[in-house]
Amino acid sequence: MLRFSRIIFNSKVVNNLKMNLSEDEWKVKLSPEQFHVLRQKGTERAGTGQYNKHSEEGVYNCAGCETPLYTSKSKFNSGCGWPAFFEAIPGALTIFEDRSHGMVRTEICCKNCGGHLGHVFKGEGYSTPTDERHCVNSIKVEQPRQQKQQQQKQQQQQQQQCDVIVIVASTN
Ligand SMILES: [Zn+2]
Repeated sequence: MLRFSRIIFNSKVVNNLKMNLSEDEWKVKLSPEQFHVLRQKGTERAGTGQYNKHSEEGVYNCAGCETPLYTSKSKFNSGCGWPAFFEAIPGALTIFEDRSHGMVRTEICCKNCGGHLGHVFKGEGYSTPTDERHCVNSIKVEQPRQQKQQQQKQQQQQQQQCDVIVIVASTN
């Protein structure tokens, strides 16, 4: 019954998405890993995100649709083993109440494509401006445009490799 309610809830949101692909189309666009996390709200092994300790300046985009979600300015070291941000780029996220697994959590999804990103935890006592921890499942990093242009002049063949972070939202 819970699962049924959840499907109805999500289908309403899907209809309002700017990027609204079918599940088959997503399977073509995404890797199996990305599809599992973004479209099936899956989780990955803890500690597999390569950007956990990534501290270079840049913008973190949705792996599904390239929408900018977070900047490096809001990234902080939470010590939880996964990349954490204290705030998202305004308007980038859709927020849900997630009552799965016997818990009440705040789920975050990409507003543009509906991809599952992770959860937000509040009031944990981090010394950040918001005291929020956005624990994100699947994003990729891109350098700021200005920086990129400079780099392209220097090394025309260099192309920023965008890898996917797949991490598990902490339940602690
Ligand atoms: Zn997206």
